[in-house]
Amino acid sequence: MAPGEHETAADVDVLLVGGGIMSATLASLLSTLEPGWRIEVHERLDAPALESSNAWNNAGTGHAALCELNYTPQRADGTVDVTKAVTINEQYELSRELWHHLAAAGRLPGGEDAVTTTPHLTFVRGAQDVEFLRRRWEALRAHRLFADLEFTTDPAVIARWAPLLMADRADDEPVAATRAAWGTDVDFGSLTRAMLADAVERGATLHTSSEVTRLKRLRDGRWRVTVADRRWNGRPPRTTTARFVFVGAGGGALHLLQRSRIKEIRGYAGFPISGQFLRTTAPHVVDQHRAKVYGKAAIGAPPMSVPHLDARVVDGRRALMFGPYAGWSMKFLKRGSWTDLLRSVRPANLVPMLAVGMRNLDLLTYLIREVTAGDTARLRTLRAYMPTADPRDWELVTAGQRVQVIKRGKGGGVLEFGTELVASADGSIAGLLGASPGASTAVATMLDLLDRCFPERADTWRPRLQQLMPSLGGGEWDAALERQLVDDGTLTGGH
Ligand SMILES: Cc1cc2nc3c(=O)[nH]c(=O)nc-3n(C[C@H](O)[C@H](O)[C@H](O)COP(=O)(O)OP(=O)(O)OC[C@H]3O[C@@H](n4cnc5c(N)ncnc54)[C@H](O)[C@@H]3O)c2cc1C
Repeated sequence: MAPGEHETAADVDVLLVGGGIMSATLASLLSTLEPGWRIEVHERLDAPALESSNAWNNAGTGHAALCELNYTPQRADGTVDVTKAVTINEQYELSRELWHHLAAAGRLPGGEDAVTTTPHLTFVRGAQDVEFLRRRWEALRAHRLFADLEFTTDPAVIARWAPLLMADRADDEPVAATRAAWGTDVDFGSLTRAMLADAVERGATLHTSSEVTRLKRLRDGRWRVTVADRRWNGRPPRTTTARFVFVGAGGGALHLLQRSRIKEIRGYAGFPISGQFLRTTAPHVVDQHRAKVYGKAAIGAPPMSVPHLDARVVDGRRALMFGPYAGWSMKFLKRGSWTDLLRSVRPANLVPMLAVGMRNLDLLTYLIREVTAGDTARLRTLRAYMPTADPRDWELVTAGQRVQVIKRGKGGGVLEFGTELVASADGSIAGLLGASPGASTAVATMLDLLDRCFPERADTWRPRLQQLMPSLGGGEWDAALERQLVDDGTLTGGH
């Protein structure tokens, strides 16, 4: 074969693009359901979980709608809509069940401590927000999933739940908080690496420094995938054929799906938003805060920019994070290219992009304010949550890149803040766009993918999936097993 000529590798059943939590979850499920399938994962960087799924690139919140106000919007008549909160909670339950199952079966090498029980609090100030929080609590606790949610307007109780919130706070304004003691902090990076290691143990292959550059559908329905070797002494690009392709490339998914030329991706565009967090590992601060405290978003802020003061456990070490502070960059991945946004523009997505640009001036104003904010403004925001914050204890870290979904819709185009699974009609390729609630609901999203892309396998797979995730079959999660895992320090409560 002449140098540079593509060599044709053997076919694979499933090719997964990207080594983040989504591909890791799908690799874990498929290698369990179909041990005989040939599965390949390709990651462009030199290790998995270095983009959004890395622990320091996201907030590590196990999103179960226990504390995030954006999942419980207020209706025009003042009542609170809990529909989305219930859905997110049920979806997160599936993730917890799968992780518990894998940990209990010894299938999360190095990821056993990835989930830490961490109370989830919502904290608000001012009479209007206090009233909203009370209504939200009343609406939520009527549902069995949130029956144990606690509510207080007593500053002394809040100080017991999260001392840093109340220390040195002026006592002349109304405050309120809710607390769910059973919330979680998740090291998604560690989980990703562990799930991929388990899939490899079961026969999957993980290629790092391996970038998928082209996707072409063949006449027989398979995909020809071109892969570039990104090592300094890398081999020439190679092609491989796959029966099914999952584009779990995070911010890189839009480009690849566009290159696949499936008609389902037409009209989609992406709007990148970067972020920063303040972080401290100072023991005298970290030791005083064992909760995740979410507040209310600023006017114009996108829903995922709600400020929060978070206890984190990463690689077994405790830290606190506050943020996110939004930023703006044209890149679609943290280690992406400045041309990412421009390269995503197509005749088919121009109208949605322009429509969204013109109708979201609030968001634009918010971003300009955030991008131009200096250390003093950042400290002011932090002190609204932690009045005693000392800037010398905190460092600024850059978070992962989010690419919000823009698609055709009312008025020409709409901006979405959730995740969206785009699949071809024949189910031979699917990819995930968007970011939130993201990693927490990776399992529900991948189960949705299995339903849409492998409908003919649904009956065969169902019993095994129900074993892994009892609530899928309407069964109750085994509370006794959960308690035992907590007591053992296996997977939750180990810290
Ligand atoms: C600031 C921030 C805070 C967040 N907080 C939370 C939170 O608290 N809780 C939560 O549940 N979720 C949170 N999220 C969302 C969550 O992090 C993401 O939804 C999730 O990590 C996405 O996983 P992924 O596998 O799709 O993408 P990624 O983790 O980004 O993985 C994609 C991978 O694909 C690789 N790749 C890209 N292009 C190619 C290519 N062509 N070939 C090969 N490989 C490629 C990339 O290098 C990368 O490793 C947050 C996100 C951000 C940015």
